[in-house]
Amino acid sequence: MVHNENCIFCKIIAGEIPSAKVYENEHVLAFLDISQVTEGHTLVIPKNHEENVYELSEESAKHVFQAVPKIANAIKEKFNPIGMNLLQNNGEAAGQTVFHYHVHLLPRYGKDDGFG
Ligand code: 5GP
Ligand code: ZN
Repeated sequence: MVHNENCIFCKIIAGEIPSAKVYENEHVLAFLDISQVTEGHTLVIPKNHEENVYELSEESAKHVFQAVPKIANAIKEKFNPIGMNLLQNNGEAAGQTVFHYHVHLLPRYGKDDGFG
């Protein structure tokens, strides 16, 4: 596993920074976003440090998206949203602020839920 010591998400994986874990396996970690755009807003990341979609290995892509349906269902059961957006930013111009690949799972609760 590539660990980048300057990366905040690598520090979360290593347990150096605490996080509210939603799901974890050998290859993938999911945890609540520190800034909850909507309740249950979750990030899914590969444990291998890869910056964004351009660097993402096929292995990591497989591991992340194999886990996404279970994580989405766990969020659905816990928070009872009526919809869910999957979002993913690549590059500063696209709104990426943490340069370790991640997928946002954004539960939706209706048009006044705080997102869009
Ligand atoms: P991006 O803008 O790169 O797509 O998303 C990065 C996300 O990481 C943001 O939604 C931000 O709130 C979240 N984030 C940044 N630092 C931390 C942290 O230390 N802990 C957690 N749980 N989330 C973080
Ligand atoms: Zn990293």
